[in-house]
Amino acid sequence: MTTTTYKADYKKAEMKALKLLEMNNSSSLPIKVKSLAEPFSNLRIKTYSWFSKKYNVTFEEIIETFQSDEGCCWYDSYSNKYLILYNEKVENKKRIRWTLAHELGHFMLKHNELSKRSIIARSSLSDDEYDEFESEANVFARSLLAHPAIICQFKSANPHFISDLFHISYEAACNVFMFIQKGYEFGFNYSSNHPFIKFFSNTIHLIKNSWYCLKCNHSFSKKLAHFCPICGSKNIAKHFFSGDGDVKYRSYETDEINRLKKCITCSNEEIVGDYCQICGTYLVNKCTGFSPQNIAEKYTGKWHADFTGSCGALLDANARFCHNCGSTSLFYEADILEDWKKEKEEADELPF
Ligand SMILES: [Zn+2]
Ligand SMILES: [Zn+2]
Ligand SMILES: [Zn+2]
Ligand SMILES: [Zn+2]
Repeated sequence: MTTTTYKADYKKAEMKALKLLEMNNSSSLPIKVKSLAEPFSNLRIKTYSWFSKKYNVTFEEIIETFQSDEGCCWYDSYSNKYLILYNEKVENKKRIRWTLAHELGHFMLKHNELSKRSIIARSSLSDDEYDEFESEANVFARSLLAHPAIICQFKSANPHFISDLFHISYEAACNVFMFIQKGYEFGFNYSSNHPFIKFFSNTIHLIKNSWYCLKCNHSFSKKLAHFCPICGSKNIAKHFFSGDGDVKYRSYETDEINRLKKCITCSNEEIVGDYCQICGTYLVNKCTGFSPQNIAEKYTGKWHADFTGSCGALLDANARFCHNCGSTSLFYEADILEDWKKEKEEADELPF
């Protein structure tokens, strides 16, 4: 009698990961891995502590039973229910994310059902079979959290970058990075039609155009910028991740021609031309060409004037300064927007 052992199918693992992301409409980074279980009524994710309390067992006993000090996917064939358990005491939170993604892989790829095992463990399977399931679950986890096709969209990607952007451990980031390097050596490339690139296209675009100001902590999206639109500082840098230190400056919605959808001064929402019909305020923010050094003597002349020094850039509705040439913005000169420092102080004082 010949037994055919399971063979890992990496293409399938990738597609199942994409399917799970699509089901959850989850295309921003880093992936919120725990919430991906929500669409499934027969799947729950719990911690080792929860299990320990509920069944009155020690952590050591859990680790021994499930043969893992990190996590497991437990299947009850009688009720057709899945329980993913993870050790929340693992210090590296990024590692926990990988563990959860890996266990979700066992679930999505139906490894328990295929092997007729309540848990996927080395002791209950042949070594070969166990390895096949494990590597398939790992490819699933990698695809789910940090697909190489997405990483290749960033030319400057390195393990630190990968670890920060996708919130995976440095070790895991090194592995993905080496995998990509190997692919390059064999002449492998991802086409722009790759399903993961398509699914994450908005996020990739946003990240590529993202900037951060070291003076006022504003983060913003622009293809090209030389100045911070909030404080006018030149001290801006490419910024890939929204950090905890970001200050959210009030933003105002605009339409496709850069015009406010609602007047900042009087809140009128019936917008017809470029000026508010109720209070006369300007509705389109643009570069004035005026030097920020003269800001104390605000412009009081005609607003219909062609701003001769202007670079012509249309500006974000909350911009006090032109991101392109550093001049003041029309909204700032016209006192529609207040000094950014006031807003930063308010934001800093906000209680949590
Ligand atoms: Zn596993
Ligand atoms: Zn700034
Ligand atoms: Zn108005
Ligand atoms: Zn300008």
